Amino acid sequence: MRFAKKVILITGGARGIGRKTAEMFLEEGANVIICDRDLPTELDQVIKMNRDSVKFFNVDVTNTEQVNGMVQQAVDTYGRIDVLINNAGITSDGFLTKMNDNDWEKVIAVNLTGVFKCTKAVVPQMMAQGSGVILNASSVVGLYGNIGQTNYAATKAGVIGLTKSWAKEFGPKGIRVNAVAPGFIETNMTSKVPEKILNLMKEKTPLKKLGKPEDIASAYLFLASDEANYINGSILSVDGGLVV
Ligand code: NDP
Repeated sequence: MRFAKKVILITGGARGIGRKTAEMFLEEGANVIICDRDLPTELDQVIKMNRDSVKFFNVDVTNTEQVNGMVQQAVDTYGRIDVLINNAGITSDGFLTKMNDNDWEKVIAVNLTGVFKCTKAVVPQMMAQGSGVILNASSVVGLYGNIGQTNYAATKAGVIGLTKSWAKEFGPKGIRVNAVAPGFIETNMTSKVPEKILNLMKEKTPLKKLGKPEDIASAYLFLASDEANYINGSILSVDGGLVV
């Protein structure tokens, strides 16, 4: 029960990595606030079973008013926010010559501006507490680029830049900021990737398999825990050795 009485806010927590992360924090005693664009039935059941310790907000991270309203309600309810996980993310892949302005803008809006908006909303509370942890979803693609992912790679590299900036800016206030750079993980997001490419990625990965949501969730739990209390400004690759 490493997170008993801790308050965790996770964006994009209805599916995939975010959902698994929310469940693992719950198992360790946390109060979990999940935000997402809709509430899938299976998550609704988890929420009903843990009524006192989970709150769901139908919030789009690109909407400043919704984000600020959610953070205010969370603070009114729990009096604090210990961990923010900026996990919500989307792709809209294509070769640059075929990528239109909308593909570019919507990915920037969620993956980069959404991280800015949620962090800006939460940081004043963490500063008042004198403590907090912010964890951002980057990607191996943000470190090394990828064909057909100009927009996505730009956001995930951008997340690394803001993680390092915030580590410097908020460290003196007792707030640690780190990012996780997952490799290819089995979720809805990668189900859109052609099987041929996924098999190629498996082959290129020294561990010869794709990752699972719990592999990334475990990294978030570690980085949020006191065991990581001297880790600040780091980008933790969790990719089976894909990009060593
Ligand atoms: P999923 O698509 O499975 O889940 C992402 C969740 O975020 C969905 O529930 C999605 O809702 C939600 N979301 C999207 N846009 C918004 C928004 N504007 N506001 C609130 N919620 C939103 O993705 P993963 O679990 O695979 O990915 C989670 C994070 O990890 C992302 O940031 C991704 O870029 C990153 N990542 C994933 C990798 C992978 O291989 N899976 C590899 C590297 C990084 P909806 O379904 O409605 O879109």
